[in-house]
Amino acid sequence: MTLRLEAPADAAQWCADQRSAGRSIGFVPTMGALHDGHLGLVRRARAENSVACVSVFVNPLQFNDAADFARYPRDFAGDACLLDASGCDMVFTGTLAGFFPRELRADGALDPRHLEDPGPPAEGLEGAFRPGHFAGVATIVRRLFEVTRPTRAYFGQKDYQQTRVVRHLVERLGFPELVVCPTAREDSGLARSSRNELLTADERRRAVVIVNALRAAREAWRRGERDAGRLRAEILAVLATERFGVEYAALRDPIAFGASEPAGNLRRAVALVAGRMGRVRLIDNLILDEDRADGDGAP
Ligand code: AMP
Repeated sequence: MTLRLEAPADAAQWCADQRSAGRSIGFVPTMGALHDGHLGLVRRARAENSVACVSVFVNPLQFNDAADFARYPRDFAGDACLLDASGCDMVFTGTLAGFFPRELRADGALDPRHLEDPGPPAEGLEGAFRPGHFAGVATIVRRLFEVTRPTRAYFGQKDYQQTRVVRHLVERLGFPELVVCPTAREDSGLARSSRNELLTADERRRAVVIVNALRAAREAWRRGERDAGRLRAEILAVLATERFGVEYAALRDPIAFGASEPAGNLRRAVALVAGRMGRVRLIDNLILDEDRADGDGAP
């Protein structure tokens, strides 16, 4: 049975007890509405550490759109059952006041002075389309790390730029070890996401265009295409076959990851897409050079 705790302070105590007993802690932060992508992270955390713990917190700080926050799926009872079956030792939830007892203003919002600077990896892509998103992510992830002080933390490649922001954060903090796990996909190829639940059956079928577009870029890469503009054109051509509101289709070098597309021929590449299927915002990415197919492609 997974132990369920509701207060970050109780989670901190549980984790401190594990550390005192000499146990390593694998930690998986989530926003709940768990699916097999999350559970893969949990299973890996359990396999590589003495204990695994999970947080379920729909972090208001990282939503730049109030409607998106309001309709984000929430199902804690269902999440707890899935965690029981995947070897999770402890799951905790919390509130903004529980995580930031001394940092909130009188109106209940976080004092902006306590927002974490997510650094250069937050520039461009998601950072451009979701202003403030990565500051919100970095702020809660830092606090979650302070609560759990894990040995290793597990994140999904699905949120590629987020892994770069977290890598930047752990380099600053000096802990924990970051483990980036490959993207789990539905049989159709669609990247698993809590937001898929918000799609109609027809939208879910059509959303496969995203991974098909990324795969077309990978095919072009295999044929020897190395020009970012032409790779992007391959992606856009496939995306244009469906009603999908493209926000960006971009190429980046996974090592020299930056705000703008690298000029000249790419030596390594990750292709990233974001856009709207109906009213649901979806993102996905694919590493194009196969030797870096697992993880975030960082050195
Ligand atoms: P979220 O609940 O969306 O904040 O996701 C929690 C963690 O699960 C993040 O590290 C995500 O990158 C990861 N994750 C979400 N979807 C997937 C997926 N399809 N495959 C692998 N990891 C995922």
